Amino acid sequence: MSRPWNFSAGPSVLPEPVLRQAAQEMLDWHGCGMSVMEMSHRGKQFIQICDEAEADLRSLLQVPEDYAVLFMQGGASAENAIVPMNLIGRGGAHAADYVLTGHWSARSHKEAARYGDVQVAASSGAATVLDGREQAPWTWVPPAGDWHVRPGSAYLHLCSNETIGGVEFMDWPDPASLGAPGVPLVVDASSHFLSRPMDVRRVGMMYAGAQKNAGPAGVTVVVVRRDLLGHALPICPSAFDYANVAAEHSRFNTPPTYAIYIAGLVYKWLLAQGGLAAIEAQNIAKADLLYGLLDRSSFYANPIHAPVRSRMNVPFVLADKRLDAAFLEGAERAGLHQLKGHKSVGGMRASIYNALPLAGVQALVDYMKEFERTHG
Ligand SMILES: *Cc1c(COP(=O)(O)O)cnc(C)c1O
Repeated sequence: MSRPWNFSAGPSVLPEPVLRQAAQEMLDWHGCGMSVMEMSHRGKQFIQICDEAEADLRSLLQVPEDYAVLFMQGGASAENAIVPMNLIGRGGAHAADYVLTGHWSARSHKEAARYGDVQVAASSGAATVLDGREQAPWTWVPPAGDWHVRPGSAYLHLCSNETIGGVEFMDWPDPASLGAPGVPLVVDASSHFLSRPMDVRRVGMMYAGAQKNAGPAGVTVVVVRRDLLGHALPICPSAFDYANVAAEHSRFNTPPTYAIYIAGLVYKWLLAQGGLAAIEAQNIAKADLLYGLLDRSSFYANPIHAPVRSRMNVPFVLADKRLDAAFLEGAERAGLHQLKGHKSVGGMRASIYNALPLAGVQALVDYMKEFERTHG
């Protein structure tokens, strides 16, 4: 069986050894005679699976002891509401600030506005000029020095990798430098979670839907500093109150057991690769290969301000839009799948997550060169 290269933005490619192990263990997990799907979430087998997944994730990300790691449901979209329901009541002002850099942060902001006094701290939703070059809306990141964070805000939210636009924060700002000491940073890291080492200490909390870079759909990972727990609004469902989920080690109610098991296998695969520094080196090599081609070509272009170009999601356009359909058809024939860009930006998008190897990016680059040669 030969599998095509899968550039889907999510749900997305998983490491093949993970899929093979899951297939092998499907009917009988470690000799217990049950599939993971058939186990009680309170039984000793699943407790072991869940606790190991948490321990492996802590070790990968070097999560400090005073942070809880939670496996939740509802995806990052539900977190857009669960975050304010848990955090905006802290401090009494019911205020929160949002940095807008594209589709997903704008969605987070819109959802949060239903729960309190929510303001925009900064936005890249207008065109600007950077390094002498015109930048279209949502192709750049407002410099942290220009953000307006209110000292009384319960938190400051940003999306550190815009999956559709292809804009990535290469580092999270140091909250101390934002002029609002004590306002915790809240980060939607869904589409670059576990793509490189990240300094958890810089955030009050982060969340990530697993189906982008870190597992299957159905589980959402939350990492939250424990002192932020216990402030949920009365309207917050008990099953979404971080304090309850943390107290029960992600088993307040039935968690997405199979998705946690697969995510756990992905964590073990990452540890076997050498951890996040090793995977980052691979991700840099992959991104350099693809952006290198885009930069050398006048046939293809990537619109993002160079310092914030995402290593995970690479949108690009062809100089002649009329060739888009032929490009995509040829790509499918060459075993390069799911390259069509999001409808809101058009063109193409190659998501080159952890589980997509360098050979896959090389195959894409070879195809793009050949397409340019025959159609340019
Ligand atoms: C995909 C994505 C979401 C939405 O995830 P769902 O699981 O569909 O709710 C939110 N934020 C980012 C950055 C994403 O990539």
